[in-house]
Amino acid sequence: MMEAVKSTSNAAKKPLMTPKAIIHQRFGDKAIYKVEEVQDLTQNGCPGLAVLQKGPCLYRCTLLLPEIVVVSDSFKRKKDAEQSAAEKAIEKLGIRQKEYKPTILEAWDDLTSRLVFLFANEFLSSLHPLSGHFRAALRREGHFNGCVPVSVIALYDAKIGNICIHINPAAESNPLLVMSLVLKAAAKQNDMVLPFEEQLSLKRRNPYPPEIIQPSTDHGSSLCYGSTIEVIRIPASPYKDVEALKLNIAETGYYLDVIGHELGVNEASNVLISRTIGKASSELRIYSPAPKRQLWEHLSEHDVKQHIHLEESLNERASYFSGQFVYGDAILASVGYTWKSTDLFHEAVALRTYYRILVNRIPNGAYKISREAILAANLPLAFTTRNNWRGSLPRDILCTICRFHHISEPVFSVQLISSDSSQDLPESHKKLEVMEADRDEKSEAVLAASCGSGNLVGSTEASSCEVKIYSKKQELILRCSPQEAYRKQNDAIQSAALKVLSWLDIFLEKPDTSVEKLNAVAKKLDIHLSLHYLSKEFASCQSIHKCGITIAQSLKLLNYNCSGNVVKDEPAFVAVAGQSSGITPSNGSLASVCYSVSLVTDGGRMKEHLESCEEFEFEVGNEAVLPDLEVAVAQMTVGQSSNVQTELVPCELILAAAGDSAATLSLLSSRSCKLEYNITLMRVTEPLEERMEQALFSPPLSKQRVEFAVRHIKEFSASSLVDFGCGSGSLLDSLLLYPTSLEKIVGVDISRRSLARAAKSLHTKLNSLLGAKDTSSVIKSAVLYDGSITKYDSRLHGFDIATCLEVIEHMEEKDACLFGDVVLSSFCPKFLIVSTPNYEYNVILQGSTPQSQEEDPNEKNQAQSCKFRNHDHKFEWTRSQFNHWASDLAARHNYSVAFSGVGGSADTEPGFASQIAIFRRSDDDYDRVAKMEFGHQYVVLWEWNIEDLLPKKE
Ligand code: SAH
Ligand code: MG
Repeated sequence: MMEAVKSTSNAAKKPLMTPKAIIHQRFGDKAIYKVEEVQDLTQNGCPGLAVLQKGPCLYRCTLLLPEIVVVSDSFKRKKDAEQSAAEKAIEKLGIRQKEYKPTILEAWDDLTSRLVFLFANEFLSSLHPLSGHFRAALRREGHFNGCVPVSVIALYDAKIGNICIHINPAAESNPLLVMSLVLKAAAKQNDMVLPFEEQLSLKRRNPYPPEIIQPSTDHGSSLCYGSTIEVIRIPASPYKDVEALKLNIAETGYYLDVIGHELGVNEASNVLISRTIGKASSELRIYSPAPKRQLWEHLSEHDVKQHIHLEESLNERASYFSGQFVYGDAILASVGYTWKSTDLFHEAVALRTYYRILVNRIPNGAYKISREAILAANLPLAFTTRNNWRGSLPRDILCTICRFHHISEPVFSVQLISSDSSQDLPESHKKLEVMEADRDEKSEAVLAASCGSGNLVGSTEASSCEVKIYSKKQELILRCSPQEAYRKQNDAIQSAALKVLSWLDIFLEKPDTSVEKLNAVAKKLDIHLSLHYLSKEFASCQSIHKCGITIAQSLKLLNYNCSGNVVKDEPAFVAVAGQSSGITPSNGSLASVCYSVSLVTDGGRMKEHLESCEEFEFEVGNEAVLPDLEVAVAQMTVGQSSNVQTELVPCELILAAAGDSAATLSLLSSRSCKLEYNITLMRVTEPLEERMEQALFSPPLSKQRVEFAVRHIKEFSASSLVDFGCGSGSLLDSLLLYPTSLEKIVGVDISRRSLARAAKSLHTKLNSLLGAKDTSSVIKSAVLYDGSITKYDSRLHGFDIATCLEVIEHMEEKDACLFGDVVLSSFCPKFLIVSTPNYEYNVILQGSTPQSQEEDPNEKNQAQSCKFRNHDHKFEWTRSQFNHWASDLAARHNYSVAFSGVGGSADTEPGFASQIAIFRRSDDDYDRVAKMEFGHQYVVLWEWNIEDLLPKKE
């Protein structure tokens, strides 16, 4: 089943006017809607079957208009009833909007009469945004009195724009063409409007009668806006920085004259005004000098760019912002007349606003802004679940980014896959195979779905999603077809969107990335691309974000790193203040922090506050915060604080966050600075699996696993133990609490962050145990290694006991199998204990899940939405799958194996919650397993030795 999901959030085409909007346009407040409830006695629209039964509640709307009253049909939703009433009224009144389809001659006539209408007496006192300009023009002094710029008429009157499109379709995307058509139309008639050709403005031939002017100019002189507006100058030269300016607009007649003056073009009619930037409701626009009149004519025929660039200097930054070609120095301002008021509206545009707009056009930046945490948030690596996601959703960000860059809306295609649940497959199928039936672009990928790992309870469906991005000219520029299947359609969509965002982010933010690297990353993310079209569509974006760091360059802050993917050695420990509460965030949990960031000089003597946030929540282990912060938080317990200094991030980010740009800039320019973060860990929300294990088992399942291991350590009198996939050291940590025969303990993991946490905790515990009197039963040495447990390291050969608790399901199945072979064939421990979830037990967990915290009604119960206990699980095995794997493994390596578990019992269906296999080496075979001396594959991250600490006893 194939389903195309087109984003509706920001449809490219304007919707037709709704019936209500048409009525409103005509009657305004005089239209009164009254909605009442009615009882539905007819079922399913079969009036014949008037079943006397309480049906669903319906609504009917009565619309009262000055001339008529109409009543709607009945609807389930109030708003449908209202629209229906409006629709009926329109029919009765015969005011259905006719499609406007004039001939070219008619259009010319319409254009002229529209001009006559605009210059008529009545228009001057209307609340049209344009009428404010007409009134202001009458306050202009001398020669220009009453002159209204053509650019203003062309831009602020939607009707004029629409008529011009019918004269020349190119007018839609070319404001200069609209202006020249308006000038021509004005020239065609002389009765009312005088074209001031060289001034590019229009003026009424006969003055307005004084009684018309008076009231409106009165209004104008009692202006209630301040005397200055704050704006930004964007120089045409990319080597000059943008700067903040103040313009004085109070006493003068017309604010556009002030802007014109600032732009060096003398007066208003030489100022070109862009469309609004960002939200349609804003008045944020780019003001620039109008190109020379002689150049306009060419513009309707050919590519604008080629003609003009020869003579004028293109302002790349301003063009990028407005999506139109802008020449010369430009001003970014939020000022203008609106529908609502006769007063001039304006808002300060600070440098910060400029940088925020800039930052918002790149995926990572847009994410940061959506979280209001520019100097802390980071676009997460993966979409795990809707519950763990914070900030704007990937799909929405992707749509916004496409809109900003004037390319088509992304197209999402969702594929539903029914999974066969009948069988328990011994060599369980892991991944859904994606096969492309046909290379033809139009044929969608066909998914041959084999069932997911293990047997799902009842028949279920999963979704996968493909995203395609097309240029304005409908060339396919990018396609992302992830293989992963999701239980929820929305998760599949968001996850695919995030992949595209992650790639685009590198492409846009780090324009120096090599083609090979871009292709390699794309491949990993299941993305096929046409770099040719991509570069074409995003060319200006790339160059702007290069020149966005002009400041950094001119300040010689060259530590800005363009390649951006240097793997830094993470600091082993971060200084943490406050008592340990023992509650640490683990991967997959949600950490809630409060932070504040300042710019500090080297010695720390000067400080400028940049950003703070009272509560910032993120998913741990998903790179959802800046890496240095994640490292710090991983080592904190709830209630603790730490202070972290980091290198500067790109200046556009710092300026987008800074409240006081001037102070920030002067600090940045005067000395070498760092960012200083103060972070407090306020709360940790465990992932669902942990919450379930704690809530539904007593003692918690994790504790039962530890106790299980301890029992076996005692039983085997083990003196050395290695914990494969030790994570943040929960087992090693707990072992210290029990008196055992252990002398040496070792942990191995691939997550450095988890290991750092383990090191920290073990370090403190071991040292405090040393303080205790009796050191005889105390561990003598402890080591933590960074390495993959599918690789062999001879330093861990022949240990008494090896544990691997709840780890294999986090690896691909083939790696789990590889691990089994490597341990039993090369590490050869006397005993190996492996635990993993029992898939069959999930029914019970799902039946009694603690209520998930999210209140989103669409997210019923997270357990139902996730077929595995944890989103990081690559598989979960049934008892028979686990038995099959373990027995086969043991047989091949001359071990015996016994099965057990924790949570539940072996004799009651569906068995243990966590299933455990205990492998025992056949001792007669020990000679065969001579120690193999390979190179050391693991890296020692932390090491502790009692000899180094105890005073020598001699
Ligand atoms: N054993 C711990 C942690 C379980 S979470 C406990 O019971 O609490 C799974 C851990 O396996 C994670 O810390 C993850 O980093 C680690 N892991 C996954 N694949 C690995 C691999 N190939 N090599 C080493 N560790 C791995
Ligand atoms: Mg697990």
